[in-house]
Amino acid sequence: MTHQQIWDAVLAEFELSVSRANFITWFHNTGISHFEKGNVIITVPTAFAKTWLEKKYHSQILHAIERISGLGVQKIYYKVEQINPAARSAQPQTVPTQSSGATTPVQAASAQTPATVNPQQQQPVRSASDPIPTVNEFGLNPRYVFESFIVGKTNELAHAAAQAVSSRPGVAYNPLFIYGGVGLGKTHLLQAIGNELLRTQKIKNCIYVTCEKFTNDFLNSVRTGSAKEFKNRYRNVDLLMIDDIQFIAGKERTQEEFFHTFNELHQANKQIILSSDRPPKAISLEERLKSRFEWGMIVDVAPPDLETRIAILESKCNDRQYRVSKELLAIIATLVQNNIRELEGALNKIMAWHELKNITPTEDSIRGILSTVETTGTRQPKSAKAIIEIVADFYAVPLNEILGSSREKRLAFPRQITMYILREELKLSYPSIGEELGGRDHTTAMHAHNKISTELKNNLQLKQEIEGIKARLTTEG
Ligand code: ADP
Ligand code: MG
Repeated sequence: MTHQQIWDAVLAEFELSVSRANFITWFHNTGISHFEKGNVIITVPTAFAKTWLEKKYHSQILHAIERISGLGVQKIYYKVEQINPAARSAQPQTVPTQSSGATTPVQAASAQTPATVNPQQQQPVRSASDPIPTVNEFGLNPRYVFESFIVGKTNELAHAAAQAVSSRPGVAYNPLFIYGGVGLGKTHLLQAIGNELLRTQKIKNCIYVTCEKFTNDFLNSVRTGSAKEFKNRYRNVDLLMIDDIQFIAGKERTQEEFFHTFNELHQANKQIILSSDRPPKAISLEERLKSRFEWGMIVDVAPPDLETRIAILESKCNDRQYRVSKELLAIIATLVQNNIRELEGALNKIMAWHELKNITPTEDSIRGILSTVETTGTRQPKSAKAIIEIVADFYAVPLNEILGSSREKRLAFPRQITMYILREELKLSYPSIGEELGGRDHTTAMHAHNKISTELKNNLQLKQEIEGIKARLTTEG
């Protein structure tokens, strides 16, 4: 992985996490000019971009470089350098049909701004009620397209359904509901449909949001008395995509609002696409919403088989013009099995390590690197209490009831899952697990752990749920 490739990957992450205006203003014409022994020099075109990156984005940049390169970073220097017109810029790619909609900050960014200007004043101003675009105005990342999606046995149905929806939106399958574990391509597929429909001009507009954003937008609209604007926005699109809809569980008012949004769009033959880490049946939802989710097409994505994992690695290497033999890719694909995000992460680490050391990958070097990779992501261990809260939230049952004495099934099952996870994640003793869960006997904890372990062997659904919970252990709080 070259410096440029590392920086491109960092930029790709920022493109997703900051507003488009911010991205263009602060990351345009930036680069890495040096990366050695943990010291990084980032070149920036103006003094005020330097100040701004140092002040606002420093730790995010540092972590992104470490994560992407797989190498430690001690210090980052920001250096103002004259813009080299031939240098690659941070200008994001846009889907051709939308490039005309690009907003004004582009000019602000490319103008030679005096270095004395206070960055505070220069930040592109957005009003609080503006939606923050993830990438383009519709929330789509132009990289997520069908061309870059590798089809294998475990995602072919989802892919076919996504293509059907892309050719006949609002008609073929409405809603389209895609579910499966983390890192298996759900977001990629959702966005590919959006990008494709915009490209072919079958739709004029769409909204892609995470469930979390939808919920926040809704709650904000209630709080600020702008419910009408909220409705106008979400009910007047040709395509609405809500990612990770499982997070709507337990949020009654948001469910109510989404129920009406759904009905209006559906009646007008507007396409709705949802993703989730589990099928509608397994989400704790109002019945009427659950049944609507089942109206159209429900498809799942499962972890890719070996052959597909190799094909994915091949395609990612091709994209980056990185040459590795198929045998070595097969070794990577054998070592990293869980999901595609981890597969990409492993490949990034391998590329970075070899390129910076300037050696060619071998079986041993690859095994060496991957043996130190924690495939579920590095993280601080959560406290037992935090884990119990996360599981309770996942199954949308109140914390006090999980800890309480009732043996109702809706509580007993999440409780067993909690015990299983406490054992697996924190290696707690059975007596302590019993203690954490409201003073239960150690035999109860042992039984729960055995039961869930056995069931996991041939219950894919359960496996995905646990993956989903584990993913939250890494991302929340
Ligand atoms: P999910 O939403 O299911 O958690 P994502 O869509 O975010 O997963 O996928 C994780 C990463 O793996 C993304 O970078 C995505 O582009 C990549 N990816 C997922 N599925 C495929 C695939 N079939 N072919 C190529 N890349 C994929
Ligand atoms: Mg996703």
